[in-house]
Amino acid sequence: MKKNNDSALVLFSGGQDSTTCLAWALSRYRHVETIGFDYGQRHAIELTMRPSLLQKIRTFSDDWNSKLGEDHIIDLGLISQLSHTAMTEDIEITMQENGLPNTFVPGRNLMFMMVAATLAYRRSMNVLVGGMCETDFSGYPDCRDDSMKALQVALNLGMATRLKLETPLMWIDKAETWQLAEHLGGSKLVDLIRADTHTCYLGERGTLHPWGHGCGTCPACALRARGYAEYVASRL
Ligand code: ZN
Repeated sequence: MKKNNDSALVLFSGGQDSTTCLAWALSRYRHVETIGFDYGQRHAIELTMRPSLLQKIRTFSDDWNSKLGEDHIIDLGLISQLSHTAMTEDIEITMQENGLPNTFVPGRNLMFMMVAATLAYRRSMNVLVGGMCETDFSGYPDCRDDSMKALQVALNLGMATRLKLETPLMWIDKAETWQLAEHLGGSKLVDLIRADTHTCYLGERGTLHPWGHGCGTCPACALRARGYAEYVASRL
């Protein structure tokens, strides 16, 4: 098999999706680093989960441990300065007239990728990995495959690079994301994601449900709980 010599920068928030993406990257690239963004999100608890999560990921194998490099935290406080949404402010999560929930921060994922591209340029990394998904999330337009493909072209034209934007979760649903985690790291990775990653929009940890910690009722918890139930049913 041809050796994969690429090095990847993973957009790593400390949630279920990005932790699965990190395992995916560690299973295929020569060198992997992580980047996280502090933008005043209400669920900033996910940022505090990251260091221990990364430490535990290292224990999966010598291979993963040797590949996993630096973690970078970037302050994007300007996001809460630019927009007023339920992602950064203490307001109720509701549906807007345009069919998008008010957790939608316009351009947030585009900005994440752009900032990651700038860091990747500096560190001579040629792959960006993000957990964007078109199948079952809130229909965020900046998570769409076309948005990512267009951004890849724009970034490479604008920076004279050959960056690849990889989105391994783009066409799979939440149940399949759990299956992918199992495929990559066995039940040990499923258990780690279940207990140590954070998805809840409201930043609640609370009790450990079968699917993980969280309020259980916000859209992110509901989606995670349903996906986990489907995943468990698929194993019976
Ligand atoms: Zn929740």
